[in-house]
Amino acid sequence: MRYFIGNWKMFGVPKSINILNKINSFYLKDKHQKKYRVFITPPYTLLESYAKYFKKKKILIGSQNCYQKDIFSSNTAAISPYMIKSVGAKFTLVGHSDNRSEGDTDLMLKNKVSLALRNNLKVVYCIGENKIDKKNNKTFSVLKKQLSRVLDRKLNKKNIIIAYEPVWSIGTGKIPTKTELNKTIIYIKKVLKGIFKKKNISVLYGGSVDGNTVGVFKEIKEIDGFLIGGASKSSKKFIDIIKNYYR
Ligand code: PEP
Repeated sequence: MRYFIGNWKMFGVPKSINILNKINSFYLKDKHQKKYRVFITPPYTLLESYAKYFKKKKILIGSQNCYQKDIFSSNTAAISPYMIKSVGAKFTLVGHSDNRSEGDTDLMLKNKVSLALRNNLKVVYCIGENKIDKKNNKTFSVLKKQLSRVLDRKLNKKNIIIAYEPVWSIGTGKIPTKTELNKTIIYIKKVLKGIFKKKNISVLYGGSVDGNTVGVFKEIKEIDGFLIGGASKSSKKFIDIIKNYYR
């Protein structure tokens, strides 16, 4: 199974649902539809209405983040995994580099992952090295820490997806070489096997994925799908990624 996950970030108002309707119509007619799933993360303000609207449709709606405490608490502007689940969302991102750079620590991320899973949300856990880590040849050690400090064997691995997003590639148009990326994805899968003693956890790639760059990525068979930022805000760009992947 492949995944095409759109991360809207701070984008979207109620009428932006038109974008998702177009993607949904494309999906319903696509002869490759059985090979992949489409997930989208609108902002919190649209989570309930979109989750209701897409309940019986093929697009899965999820959240961009969740808080590290559950049910209810006295933390202003915080949204718990329980609250996300209660409005019909099916998954959440955790550990996006935007949130890591705003202060999310490994301990916070560990709590988020485990609480989200406990609420039966799927978790798309984001990892990735920054420009300095890469320059200092620290990519593998950074990724290993991000995985081993947050994930553990007792978690419900069936609901975990990993998104490898090199921070220097997000929104920049810069992408890793094929050899580099292939090695990194294989390394991530090896670390995951060490943690979970299982082979089959999906690992996605994210960072400047569009209709052109997907041509390079599709040659790397170990990549199980994509986390897509900028290009997910346009139905045409998002659909082009899927079309070019299966061309
Ligand atoms: C992202 O923000 O997760 C992302 C991958 O962005 P972009 O596709 O724009 O690089």
